[in-house]
Formats: sequence, structure tokens, C-alpha cells
Amino acid sequence: MKLLIGTNNQHKVREIKEILDKEFQGIFEIVTPADVLDSSIDIEETGKTLEENAFLKSSEFYSLTNVPSISDDTGLEIEALNGEPGVNSARYSGVHGNDAENRKKVLNLLNGVPEEKRNARFRTVICYFDEGKAEFIEGICSGRINEEERGVNGFGYDPIFVPDGFDKTFAEMTSEEKNLLSHRGKAVRNLVEFLKTLNQ
Ligand code: IMP
Repeated sequence: MKLLIGTNNQHKVREIKEILDKEFQGIFEIVTPADVLDSSIDIEETGKTLEENAFLKSSEFYSLTNVPSISDDTGLEIEALNGEPGVNSARYSGVHGNDAENRKKVLNLLNGVPEEKRNARFRTVICYFDEGKAEFIEGICSGRINEEERGVNGFGYDPIFVPDGFDKTFAEMTSEEKNLLSHRGKAVRNLVEFLKTLNQ
């Protein structure tokens, strides 16, 4: 059975493909947009929620290819900021993809907020779309926002996010350590459980 991973991010493709290949040993033939579409396509994330964006992308890839498709969207949800930056995580400071400015904005907004009120979570939503049927699969990693940046690994908000049960930020962990805990890792493991039900 073909499964399209609806993203142009090759890092995500590799990460998901590795897990699915290991789990299903060839039952799913993983394809990417570049494999099945003539020209490269970038679907705008115009949704107001992570679910809407994941749906927009997977349903669009399905209608373009007729291949069951999955797409994801991730956001950092900070309790003291009423769930912001959430769906706007990539462009919180106004410039898409400016991780350093995005982190700076969060730290400024939380300036003076005590540790017990700095709760936050990363949430990844994957949407599986096939023949008009959408299934949503989630992965959550809870933690808190540190008072300053620490560590150099990872990307995005990693230097300011400390997962529950740890004293170090995601950026102070190896990628193996982070993958075991992370929202994306959990979402992909939940995706595996969902895909198993399709094969029964
Ligand atoms: P995307 O949906 O995976 O592209 O994620 C949207 C935004 O959320 C990224 O641009 C990052 O700012 C942030 N983000 C997503 N995943 C992570 C992560 O694992 N660590 C830190 N930031 C992340």
C-alpha cells in the first residue's frame, strides 16, 4: 500500500520513513511529493489550528495524487500566554522561520513569570487522509519554558524548553534522547498504531 508523506522537509521524511520501514517491513511503500508530482508544490498553512493545517496539507496531497497522505503541524503552547504561539510558532516574531527572534519574544513575554507558571507543551498533529476520510493523530510533550537559553542542539524553541522530569533543555540533549520524549516521536509512534488498524 502506498503512503505519501506530505512534506518537503527531507529531515521529517527520513525520520518517519525509518520508523515505518522498521515497523512494517515494506507493507507501506513510502512516497514523497517529489516522487509523484511533476513540479514541487508548497501548500500554504492558512489554518487557524494545527488540525486545520495538517488537514489542509494531507487532503490537498491526496486530491493531487490519489495516494493516502499524511501531513503534520506542530506548535508550542504556553499556558501563561493562553496557548500562544501555537499555530503561529514558526512566525511568532513576525518573520517566518526566525527561531532566535521567536525565542526572544517568548522570553520577553514571560519575563518575571515565576517557574510554577511557566508550563508549556509541544503538540504535533498528524492528519491521515484517504478517500474523504480524515483521521487525526496527536503527540504531546509537556514541560516548561526556562528563564534563559541553554544548549546548542536541535532547532526552534529547543534552547528554552525543559521537558517534564528533566533539568536540561531539549537543546542540551542528544537527538536520540529528544526523540524518545518528543511530541513528534510520540505522534509517529501513535501513527504506527493507527496504521496497524488499517492492516487488520
Ligand atoms: P513544524 O510544523 O514542524 O514546521 O513546526 C512549526 C514550528 O514549531 C517550527 O518552526 C518551530 O519553531 C517549532 N517546533 C516544531 N517542532 C519543534 C521542536 O521539536 N523543537 C523546537 N521547536 C519546534
